Amino acid sequence: MTIKSTLRSEQLTLLSDYPAIRLSALPVLDQRLRGTTFVGLAPRSILNSPQQTGVDFWSLNPYIGCEFGCTYCYARYAHRYAVERARDAGKLSEAEFHDFRGPHGWEAFERRIFVKERLLGALEADLGRYMRTARPPDGPTAPIVIGTATDPYQPAERRFRLTRQVLERLARCEGLNVGIITKSPLIARDVDVLRQLQERSDLEVYISLITLDARVIRQVEPRSPLPAVRLRALARLTAAGINAGLIVAPVLPGITDDRPHLEALFRAAREAGARFVHAGPLRLYAAVRDRFLPVLEAHFPDLVDRYRRAYGGGRSNAPRDYARALAARVKRLQARCGFPVNDGMIDRYRPRRPRGGQGELGL
Ligand code: SF4
Repeated sequence: MTIKSTLRSEQLTLLSDYPAIRLSALPVLDQRLRGTTFVGLAPRSILNSPQQTGVDFWSLNPYIGCEFGCTYCYARYAHRYAVERARDAGKLSEAEFHDFRGPHGWEAFERRIFVKERLLGALEADLGRYMRTARPPDGPTAPIVIGTATDPYQPAERRFRLTRQVLERLARCEGLNVGIITKSPLIARDVDVLRQLQERSDLEVYISLITLDARVIRQVEPRSPLPAVRLRALARLTAAGINAGLIVAPVLPGITDDRPHLEALFRAAREAGARFVHAGPLRLYAAVRDRFLPVLEAHFPDLVDRYRRAYGGGRSNAPRDYARALAARVKRLQARCGFPVNDGMIDRYRPRRPRGGQGELGL
């Protein structure tokens, strides 16, 4: 849902808020038996502006890092840069850096979760800035998207309730334009506050699910909720009148992009009351390759060469022809399943900056 620059702003916020504090000295709030540690932050700012990130929306992420640990997750950038910059700024010794980073570099994103404690003070100040600049009298209100670089309803939210606090504050505002992206059924806990928010503002909730195939989910998303659980959450939201739909991000070439596969997913979302569907292809950033390509080799070895060709030469985005063909397929399926037809991405949240050229990948 976002681009690299959005993620960079996360690490800049993280570092600038703690000019004199060593990262390893931050309070440990909780630890799981499997090794995940939750570290407290008290940020001065929580809402990232379009000027900070280079996208057309404001973004908010109550956590940095995500326990769900999806192998294709581009948000690994945020964590990796945060830890590397902390080391470069002298806030982590070399030994601490290796401990934070984990043996392969990608573990930290899943096992060192930064929790933005006491975020309401920061949000209050940021809302003043937002109201002054994001609501021009002669134009549309800029969206606020929650969950662009981490899942706002990952398991930690059950205890820390940061996302709920943010929503309660936003529900007291008038005329906002809010999007929420999550894979977690925990969002259904907050139906009450979502309804309040929707009474005064535009709201879109995107339940994220890439396939109905639980086997594939477990191969590429080690700790995410299973498909049936997410669809039940979607049904609970829509039954409560929440404007909710499905986001299929990413569509995995050769794994989840065939027509029967996508159609079954779209129809399941429709049965759960989804009001819209969006879908977009995999982006394979450098920080994601270390995590995703070994999984591809283990479970889909026949696809490895195809991926290496398609995403070779430093390309992160799917080849243009592939993206066009996928968008056309998504549009046909949207029409066939009774959804509004769109370009396959979330148009309102489309990055402002154009992307570079692409190679070839046939469907
Ligand atoms: S749930 Fe979202 S933020 Fe969390 S690991 Fe998966 S893709 Fe990344």
